[in-house]
Amino acid sequence: MKKELYVDIDGTICTLHKSFDIKDYTKGVNVPRADTGQIAAFDFEDLLNIYKDIKPYYDRIEHINSLYDDGKHNITYWTARGYRHTQLMKRAGSGSTDHITEKAAFYELTEKQLKEWGCKYHELQVATKPVWDLYICDKSIHSDDYFSKVLNG
Ligand SMILES: [Mg+2]
Repeated sequence: MKKELYVDIDGTICTLHKSFDIKDYTKGVNVPRADTGQIAAFDFEDLLNIYKDIKPYYDRIEHINSLYDDGKHNITYWTARGYRHTQLMKRAGSGSTDHITEKAAFYELTEKQLKEWGCKYHELQVATKPVWDLYICDKSIHSDDYFSKVLNG
């Protein structure tokens, strides 16, 4: 029986993106701001662009690839990218299919990055993971602790 391994992306196998300041964007679709609920406007492309400057941690990726190669693990990359945005779009009812199209755009961007970085995996889940501040679970380990142990001994 293979072990199911879920691996986060941002801050785990790559650097974090620069934060998105909604005030910088003045065109494109309207969505309610997460903090105030007020309508703000920004360009969806700009939202995707925040992920373009991030850098992969190749030592971590190699480790996850080795778990893929050993045949004993099912590797799922699981990211909250796009989750908040698509939830807001759904709630705002801004076009019946906009949030589906935009969820696909987050998926495509992430799939392309994982390919460029040489990531091996069985499944990729994008925008299905909620955004949280603290996750309490009996099966989790913080990424820095995990990689410090497996990469540095
Ligand atoms: Mg993360």
